[in-house]
Amino acid sequence: MKQHIYADNAATTKLDKAAFEAMTPWLLEEYGNASQPYAFARKPKKALADAKVTIAGCIGAAPEEIYFTSGGTESDNWVIKSSAFSDPEKRATIISAFEHHAILRSCAAIGRLGYPVAYMWPSDEGYITPEILEKYITDNTRLVSVMFANNEIGNIQPVRELCEAAHTHGALFHTDAVQAVGHIRINVHELGIDFLSASAHKFNGPKGIGFLYIRKGVELLPYADGGAQENAHRAGTENVAAIVGMAAALKENCDLLEQNQQHILDLERLLLFQLDKAGVIYKRNGGDRKLPGLLSLSFLGKDGEAILHRMDLMGISISTGSACDSVNTEISHVLQAIRLDEDYAEGTIRISLGKDNTEKDVEIIAAALIKIVV
Ligand code: PLP
Repeated sequence: MKQHIYADNAATTKLDKAAFEAMTPWLLEEYGNASQPYAFARKPKKALADAKVTIAGCIGAAPEEIYFTSGGTESDNWVIKSSAFSDPEKRATIISAFEHHAILRSCAAIGRLGYPVAYMWPSDEGYITPEILEKYITDNTRLVSVMFANNEIGNIQPVRELCEAAHTHGALFHTDAVQAVGHIRINVHELGIDFLSASAHKFNGPKGIGFLYIRKGVELLPYADGGAQENAHRAGTENVAAIVGMAAALKENCDLLEQNQQHILDLERLLLFQLDKAGVIYKRNGGDRKLPGLLSLSFLGKDGEAILHRMDLMGISISTGSACDSVNTEISHVLQAIRLDEDYAEGTIRISLGKDNTEKDVEIIAAALIKIVV
């Protein structure tokens, strides 16, 4: 079989075997509807409750603060739209200019309805500091939303400080933590976060499932009206198998988090060492606080698209920017936000290593890249 090396873990990850195995009984045998009152519904109902306990435990939340959704996009849409519509006295939203499109386009939608949205421009290194937030926030701000970790450059934002600044002005704080959950330690209660979005397929769980953390006591209008599922905030029969798989994957990742981080960081160092040893000239985008294994590399005067396709021909999957943007050949809004020179931006690729990658993978990736860019 032709070799295949997967190095696009920020786009999606491989389903953990443990998660897959945890899912199958809920598809084949225990297929009852968890909302029904009879005995056959008891097991799926308990599985949903157990999944909330597991997920909450992994992020320092209480189980009743976890709401199942179809993934990061839905969680983001829910917060941005429901928050804006919640309070006629406080209508404004502030986000960073390098958010994922799930946030950007939700904000464009509320903007078209007349709700004010401000876009914060980050520092050159790609950070939103509390000082930057202070320039935008007003008494009319209801929600501040800044992603935990950026999907293109990996920067981890100072969430605790941003949360404090938002609260000082009476605003709520949301973070799109789709790239961070299961990869770095997060304790929502300690950080003071009001809302957090997560998606299972980014932490080795199944696709099409995720959750929204809503801090107890914080009001948010329902996302979908209908049945009484999710405390009547997100109607629709639950996907029990996917939810169980998500909880199993998150637990597995959180149990081994530091170990995985170390392994991925070692691979990252090896990759950069190989490039440096071969005298490759590149710029690594982003600042010092980054997700392990996410490398945004720019090669002056090169074409990122062309690098991606040549790597693909060699059986290696990488990305130019975010997966959601792969059809859009314009310079990504993230690279624009960090004011990367156009000559560098056009030659940018994203390599995102995961826990399943090996040293051999990295040796092959480095050799391929050296062959293409030198
Ligand atoms: N937010 C971020 C930061 C992401 O990276 C992604 C996916 O790439 C999403 C949201 C969307 O998540 P989902 O694919 O679960 O809808």
